[in-house]
Amino acid sequence: ERTEDTVTAGADLYLSGISKRFASFTAVEDLDLLVPSGTFFALLGPSGCGKSTTLRMIAGLEAPSEGSISIGGQDVTALPSHRRPVNTVFQSYALFPHMSVLENVAFGLKRKKDKQAMAKAKAGLELVELAHLANRKPAQLSGGQQQRVALARALVNRPQVLLLDEPLGALDMKLRRQMQLELKKIQTEVGLTFIHVTHDQEEAMTMADVVAVMNGGRIEQMGPPRELYELPRTAFVANFLGKSNLMRGTVTGESGGLLSVDVSGRTILLPAERAVQKSGEVVVGVRPEKITIDRVAAAGENQLTGKVIDVSFTGTTTEYLVEVEQIGLIGTFSQNRGQQPAQEGDTVYLAWDAEHSFGLAGDESV
Ligand code: ATP
Repeated sequence: ERTEDTVTAGADLYLSGISKRFASFTAVEDLDLLVPSGTFFALLGPSGCGKSTTLRMIAGLEAPSEGSISIGGQDVTALPSHRRPVNTVFQSYALFPHMSVLENVAFGLKRKKDKQAMAKAKAGLELVELAHLANRKPAQLSGGQQQRVALARALVNRPQVLLLDEPLGALDMKLRRQMQLELKKIQTEVGLTFIHVTHDQEEAMTMADVVAVMNGGRIEQMGPPRELYELPRTAFVANFLGKSNLMRGTVTGESGGLLSVDVSGRTILLPAERAVQKSGEVVVGVRPEKITIDRVAAAGENQLTGKVIDVSFTGTTTEYLVEVEQIGLIGTFSQNRGQQPAQEGDTVYLAWDAEHSFGLAGDESV
């Protein structure tokens, strides 16, 4: 019942042909984006890729140079920030230090002369599980608790879309991981549309239903986290979301839906449906955890012979760096299941199921 008190349901967000230029510099280029109501959506990318600018245009803090923005079917492009059904939570929580936690959350509602301001603020604090700290001052809270106050303050304004600009950026790693789970839980509970900006791929992958990877003002790829990880379509996405083991090769044939790719004299099999490009020069990749490492050769394709040049134990897995002649370094993980582990200097055989290969265009850099 408290959910009804606190928020309204989310709305679709639609960006159409959005560009943003600062003088001659294009920060965001021709973005088309539909985020269905209730989605936890992450804009992920390196510093300077244009994700904050995109968020600021949705918030109404920055006017697009071209294109339109609509929320819940209403064109808001010309509306000022305070008339849009959105609220933003920034990295700096900007809580008023002299006010109690409860007063901080009620502030915006009181300013709008909402008679139920205090009751709504209390419900908001319950939602983020901070009702017991309502009378404290912000300085008497931990970073994670302050972050939740900022979230409650945004939610009680009943936005249809909640914008989060690196909201966990100021927290240490452990608290950050914990808050990621809590934020996701709250989003599921209130069913709002969340647009979350981050440069942390693990954060985006853990929380979001859909991730858009941005690079140089454009979206390179968009989809559910698992799909982006397992089937990246560009080298940038492959590398940004983990170790990708990219190899350059040439398609030599196709049979039974599998492309044969010659990689420096060795045959790598690649499902045609997992290849961006199906002939000529291509780039093939495989995630490190899909590769098995063995000291004994097996028969068949998708096999590379190399020499272990580095072994590092990470706690649950062992990570091997293997130098493969004419191809370069390949990284692989192995669960230690009691087999004779490979050591630095050993000759080893790397293999993986063809279905785990992915194929990129030949002009990608490896
Ligand atoms: P970060 O993670 O570092 O915040 P970001 O992906 O959010 O990066 P933006 O803040 O959107 O990136 O900036 C995108 C590009 O636009 C950057 O190159 C930035 O320098 C430029 N930029 C942003 N705001 C302005 C401005 N007001 N005037 C000129 N250039 C700007």
